[in-house]
Amino acid sequence: MQLTGQNFIGSSNSASSSETFRAINPATKDLLEPSFYEATADEVNEAVERASKAFGVYRQKSGEEIAEFLESIGDEIMALGDGMIQRCMDESGLPEGRLTGERSRTVNQLKLFADVLRDGSWVDARIDTGEPDVRSMQKALGPVGVFGASNFPLAFSVAGGDTASALAAGCPIVVKAHPSHPGTCEWVAEAIIKAAKKTGMPDGVFSMVHGRSHDTGLAIVRHPKIKAVGFTGSYVGGKALFDEANRRAEPIPVYAEMGSTNPVFVLPGALKERKQAIAEELSSSICLGVGQFCTKPGLVFHEESDDATSFTSFLTQKMQQITAGVMLNEGIRKGYQSGLTKLSGINGVEILARGEEDENGFRGSAALFKMPVLVYLENIEVEEEVFGPSTVLVSSAGKKDTLNAARKLKGHLTATIHGTEKDLEEYSELIDILEQKVGRLLFNGYPTGVRVSHAMIHGGPFPATTNSRTTSVGTQAIYRFTRPVCFQGFPDSYLPDELKNDNPLKILRLLNGSYTRDRL
Ligand code: NAP
Repeated sequence: MQLTGQNFIGSSNSASSSETFRAINPATKDLLEPSFYEATADEVNEAVERASKAFGVYRQKSGEEIAEFLESIGDEIMALGDGMIQRCMDESGLPEGRLTGERSRTVNQLKLFADVLRDGSWVDARIDTGEPDVRSMQKALGPVGVFGASNFPLAFSVAGGDTASALAAGCPIVVKAHPSHPGTCEWVAEAIIKAAKKTGMPDGVFSMVHGRSHDTGLAIVRHPKIKAVGFTGSYVGGKALFDEANRRAEPIPVYAEMGSTNPVFVLPGALKERKQAIAEELSSSICLGVGQFCTKPGLVFHEESDDATSFTSFLTQKMQQITAGVMLNEGIRKGYQSGLTKLSGINGVEILARGEEDENGFRGSAALFKMPVLVYLENIEVEEEVFGPSTVLVSSAGKKDTLNAARKLKGHLTATIHGTEKDLEEYSELIDILEQKVGRLLFNGYPTGVRVSHAMIHGGPFPATTNSRTTSVGTQAIYRFTRPVCFQGFPDSYLPDELKNDNPLKILRLLNGSYTRDRL
């Protein structure tokens, strides 16, 4: 496929701007062809207008029809073959195996939503007969703006989780392509447009606009016909878009999934029994993908002991052995370096490992810091995400300090406890505290790697996200783009199929307080 650098305004290509930019290969710093055209205000407007028009048709499509569309997107992505993977490697510096794995995850995510739509019960149909007769279900919100992150150029990008869940909910989307991988975005956009045409979806169900300046994204969020935003990326970006949405005459929900430090608590029993294994596994988790995961463990709490000393020295050895890896782009590398510089400058911090700077491409080296809990508590910025292969060990004198540090944590995507059964008994309060701080609590595991399934929660209290009541991964993500609508006293023939007396779709419904697939 020949890349054009153009914007996708529905099924039309458009390149009206004189402003262009090119992608950069982060391994070599080479500029890649072709130039991409920044979307103009008129192009963004046209994309949203088409999405709004498409909504009238798309919201009437059946679950089966949208399921076929989602599966067809998956098939078209697979049909892009090695060309798309190669372009993605050139733009992201990520290795082939990681990207083919991410492609499978992206396609399986689309298929999972297709299954949910075919079953149909996701609409949460509720029927209370009697006087008055009231029936409710979830309905699509309207056109959604989607922003992907640089570190998942497939699974959190043009056809990623926000796209899959918004399209599944019945919402047309306008995607802001990520300027770090615009060519990959174009390949995937082409696949979605093909799938939309093949499955008879309305023009405007999908658009994608390019923009290296923030104006493009802001224009999407400000447009009065956009009804929700799905964002994955940095705290600064997510918060800026959230604030912008709240300045609108009609505020809209912004589901911004942002950075996180993912605290890990290694309790005394676990340190005694598994210090070496935990140190090895933890270093792999910290450095996976050059530390460029929102779930990277960036804070490791433990209590001082001989076991803790050995654990620290195992972890230090491991982190010192890790060679510098290619980071996603220049901005991320700069951000990583400045994060390390900030940590190094804290009074009372010990630098246990810090690899050499490598100017060959945008590379980042592993780093390990240690500080006493009192220093940690006095330097609250330590809790902020440093996006790259680094972590901070926080040592305390005992349980009281550990619990105190946990109580002071802000919101994170995950928290992890390493412990024995006895540790859990002794530290049951820690579970209670952490449950209030995160979306996913792990026991004896590692937070990197997020399963796409029905029960998964990838979210958490602010500042990990701007809305802690939901998830961006897994099938519950669909509810970000719906709202409940209640029909009171309507004749059966005017009700949606999901709420009709004879339950033609055979879905599970809450009928007078009991779940059933029966007809009335
Ligand atoms: P990013 O710089 O925030 O970029 C994400 C998107 O938002 C890009 O399209 C970017 O365009 C746009 N953007 C950023 N700031 C903006 C602003 N002020 N106004 C308008 N648009 C703006 O994030 P990234 O560097 O790609 O991704 C890395 C970050 O994502 C890390 O912090 C990581 O933890 C986080 N992440 C979170 C999750 C999660 O699920 N919670 C998953 C993956 C990654 P421009 O580049 O043009 O600014």
